[in-house]
Amino acid sequence: MLTVEEARERILAQMKPLDSEDVPLTEALGRVVAHVVVSQEAVPPFANSAMDGYAIRAADTEGASKTAPIDLRLVGEVPAGRLYAGEMHVGEAVRILTGAAVPDGADAVIQQELVTVKDGIVTLTQPVAPNTNIRPAGGDVRPGVTLVRAGTELGPSEIALLAAVGAHPITVTRRPRVALLTTGDELAPLGTAPQPGQIHESNMPYLIAAIRRAGGDPWWLGIAPDRIETLRAMLDQAREADLILTSGGVSVGDYDLVKQVLSEAGNIGFWRVRMRPGKPVAFGLLGTTPLLGLPGNPVSAAVTFELFGRPAIRRMLGAAQVERPQIIVEYEGEAIPQGDRRHFVRARLHTHGARLIARTTGAQDSHLISSLQGASALLDIPEGDGAIHSGDLVPALLLNDALPWDIEVG
Ligand code: AMP
Ligand code: MG
Repeated sequence: MLTVEEARERILAQMKPLDSEDVPLTEALGRVVAHVVVSQEAVPPFANSAMDGYAIRAADTEGASKTAPIDLRLVGEVPAGRLYAGEMHVGEAVRILTGAAVPDGADAVIQQELVTVKDGIVTLTQPVAPNTNIRPAGGDVRPGVTLVRAGTELGPSEIALLAAVGAHPITVTRRPRVALLTTGDELAPLGTAPQPGQIHESNMPYLIAAIRRAGGDPWWLGIAPDRIETLRAMLDQAREADLILTSGGVSVGDYDLVKQVLSEAGNIGFWRVRMRPGKPVAFGLLGTTPLLGLPGNPVSAAVTFELFGRPAIRRMLGAAQVERPQIIVEYEGEAIPQGDRRHFVRARLHTHGARLIARTTGAQDSHLISSLQGASALLDIPEGDGAIHSGDLVPALLLNDALPWDIEVG
């Protein structure tokens, strides 16, 4: 039996980063940047005013006080989006609004609340230091600085930064096309009433959502009945995908056919991983297309997708962050006995002062879909003879899509 790390390494070794495409910044949320982006521009592009007030020459204001006010001649106005035509001379002031380019010759802005204006004269009762209320060109971003590295997943802040330097559209990695089929005669398709002995199928909607969250583009093939010819034909059609995901049909039962089809193709990778839930996992190549066979039990399917499917998709995306961030949490609750396999326990996190506390979501059997609900972490309980007790610090995988976590940005 392989360890989780060994299995993941073997899977990731087969995942090639995909080609790239240009998308508008308005469609770039969650996409992974394909190439480093270096700023070609300065932000702000020109020195501009941080206040509504008056552009002045600082030297003109030297010695100004309540008892010795200084008068400047108001010679014009410059609103945001316009330029002041000409240059400012000694003894002049120009009305300026926030964001407007500072006129040539001016080197400070005094805010309007600090002056009186009457009959074209601006009166100051205090001196103004050079550069006051001026946002210098390039004060935010200088040309030549790295804005985002290849592999960065774009959030709203990165998108704003790219927009500010005009880096639009942006080159991102193509979303991997992930073919999905579920297996089992007992499955009633979404929106249909189960026949006697059937259940509502739930892995498909789960996995479609999880594939999307991971950055993939799901391609639903349908439910394969437990008949090898049909399964073979459906899988054949999926070879055009970047990755094939199946659920069910990988354990040792008579009807576990995914494994069989993969074995025929001659490229079965493995089918047992030393973990709980989800021991039976298959991985192989169907022709040249990687196929990841997840177990049918809904919780096993979800956890194995997290540990193997999501990293596979993210590797194809070229994402810098392939795995979930690992954090340390304080366990709270009844003792969890360790066992002969590493156990990934669904847990909810909450904070208590500076402590990050994890409680399980309840019973952890692999058929309990309700145990997935609200899980924000997977506690990573090592195999062993002991137990995890309340107050113990345990490693956990953070399931929230809090990005970026623990990686260098920019
Ligand atoms: P299998 O791995 O095919 O032996 O399935 C294991 C268990 O998971 C059985 O109880 C199945 O009914 C259940 N199961 C398999 N596929 C699905 C699915 N797509 N949705 C919900 N339950 C499933
Ligand atoms: Mg089955």
